[in-house]
Parts: sequence; structure tokens; C-alpha cells
Amino acid sequence: MPNISDIVKQLAAVPGEYRAGATDLNARYRLGIRPDQIVDINGLDELKTIEWNADGSARIGALVKIETLASDEKIKRYYPALAQAAGNLATPQIRKMGTIGGSLLQRTRCWYYRHPQFKCFKKGGDSCPAREGNHHYGVCFDLGPCVFPHPSTLGMVLAAYDGGVTVHDGSVAPISNVYGMGTEPAVDHLLGEDELLVFINLPKPMEGEKSVYTRTISRFEAEWPLVEVVARLQIENGMIQYARVALGGVANIPLVLPHVDKVLRGKPAVSSTFEQAAEKAILGANPLPMTQYKVKLVYGSVMDALTKAVDL
Ligand SMILES: Cc1cc2nc3c(=O)[nH]c(=O)nc-3n(C[C@H](O)[C@H](O)[C@H](O)COP(=O)(O)OP(=O)(O)OC[C@H]3O[C@@H](n4cnc5c(N)ncnc54)[C@H](O)[C@@H]3O)c2cc1C
Repeated sequence: MPNISDIVKQLAAVPGEYRAGATDLNARYRLGIRPDQIVDINGLDELKTIEWNADGSARIGALVKIETLASDEKIKRYYPALAQAAGNLATPQIRKMGTIGGSLLQRTRCWYYRHPQFKCFKKGGDSCPAREGNHHYGVCFDLGPCVFPHPSTLGMVLAAYDGGVTVHDGSVAPISNVYGMGTEPAVDHLLGEDELLVFINLPKPMEGEKSVYTRTISRFEAEWPLVEVVARLQIENGMIQYARVALGGVANIPLVLPHVDKVLRGKPAVSSTFEQAAEKAILGANPLPMTQYKVKLVYGSVMDALTKAVDL
């Protein structure tokens, strides 16, 4: 049986990539984006379970399948936005093969990055061809050199739940540290090349919390969202006690919006409050020439998610 330490040593010896479900890795391989070495981690059975701690928090093994997250009864009950996001992303086939670890650490879907004829920051180049070229599916919060949105739906959900990760040496980090500020264009996450993600940690959910995931997409399935939102609300006697809104598909990192949360807290859970929150959510948007449409989508998607959360 392989163990974590041997697996990590193998990748430390020759640079390369770990293989989990391989749904992203194989797609890139076929396009000629090939690491020198691939180390399969599927024999690490200890990374395939979801454990619940005494305080109600959860520890999810990095090899837990996306499909499992969508169907697990306790995940559905305590982290409904996570289950909804997992059940909606990609296709049934990808969800069956893909893992939460691979989902968090997948590479950008930018068509220039994935095109064999183009160089970009992520392939040793010194520019972002999408910025000058076709960036129809690009960011509308332009945070850094690379203008394609971060691909990880589950990364955005973890940010909304204040989740974190554990790496093979036992070190832990909040998910925000895994993605950084979006200013480092060569990478999609800040883990070192041989660092193995072993667990994903979710804090105890809040009492009576309602949380919802919505995605605005250009076709029914098998597509990354144009905009995706997680809204978490804790409401008592019609008043919002706690709020959390996060966005995906709009920036080169998952975005949490503390200024939006602030607008919501202490206010009645009614549509006029949600309008104020949606207005705040688009503050600071700096779309590219082809992504102005996304700003309107953000407004509508935030309204939609908050309204659905209340109706739960
Ligand atoms: C049509 C289509 C639509 C899709 N839509 C969405 C979508 O809406 N939202 C979304 O988020 N994704 C979407 N995806 C992408 C899909 O979710 C990913 O391909 C999948 O989650 C990757 O998981 P995997 O286990 O197969 O990763 P792999 O392909 O095995 O690995 C991906 C990367 O992560 C690294 N890695 C994997 N596990 C670890 C680990 N434990 N430690 C360190 N590094 C690791 C690998 O080295 C590799 O670099 C879509 C894919 C397709 C084809």
C-alpha cells in the first residue's frame, strides 16, 4: 500500500503533478500540457472519507469524490451550498471521477492557456493573450495580470464557509491562503509543487443557517458558470443576524464580499435589503471590454441567491 510520505518523496524527486480523478490532468495532457512526472495518489485510502469531529466540524479527505459531496446526507444537511454546488458542476461522469482535492487545485480553463499554440503567464510566457484577445468568459473583477476566472466552484464554496486545508506535513491554512490575492499569474493556487493536499476542513455550521448555491450558465450542463454565488444567512424574527456572500466566475480567485455581508447584517430579510446588497456586490467591478455583461449578472445572481436562501 502506498503511503503519503513515499508519494510526496516521489514528486519531490522529479517535478510533476499528482493524479487524483485525472479529469483535468488528462484533458491538459491531451493538449500537450504535460508534466515530467505524474504520481498517482488513488491508493491513499485514508483520504477517501468524510469525518465529523465532536464539535460538529467536518474533515473531508482530498480524494472524496465530488459525487459523494453531492449525495452525502450530512453534507446536504449541514453544508447545503456545498452539496448543491457539487451536484451542479460539470457532468455526472466528471463528478463520479473528480475529487474535491483536484477540484480545488485544477488549472485554469482559459482557452489560450489550453491552446498548444499560445504562450501565456501560466506556460512560461510574459503576457496574458486573453487580455488583448477574446475574453468573453473573462473576469469582471480584474485583480491581476491573468484575466480568466478561477475555475474552482468548490474553492468558492469553501471560501464562503470559511473552510481550510491540511497539507501532508500537517500544516493547515485557510482557503484564502491557498488562492492568494490573484496577483501571481503563473499559478492557479499557491501550494508548492510537491505539497499534497490531504484534508479539507469545514468549521461547525451555524445554528439555523440557510445556505444556497446558484449558478448562472450559458447552457444547461457541462459548462463552467458565467457567475456563481453562495449566500449564507442566519435569520431570527425576520432580521439577518449573520450573512456571507461569495462569488465565483468573476475574478481570478474566488471572491468573498465582506462589504456585502456588512450591508445585510442587522437588516430585515426583505428584497429592499437584498437590492442594497446586490448594489454593493458590483461595487469595485472593473470589467474588460467583453465582460461588462457579467456585472449585470452579478447583480441579478446575488439577488436570486439571497431570495432563494430566505425561501428555504
Ligand atoms: C465539461 C466540464 C465542466 C466542468 N465544470 C466545472 C464547474 O462548473 N466547476 C468546477 O469547479 N469544475 C468544473 N469542471 C472541472 C472538474 O471539476 C475538474 O476537472 C475536477 O474537479 C478535477 O478533479 P480531479 O480529481 O479529476 O483532478 P485531477 O485532474 O486529478 O487533478 C487536477 C490538479 O489538481 C492536482 N491535485 C489533485 N489532487 C491533489 C492533491 N490531493 N494534492 C495536491 N494536488 C492535487 C493535480 O496534480 C492536478 O494539477 C468541469 C469539467 C468539465 C470537463
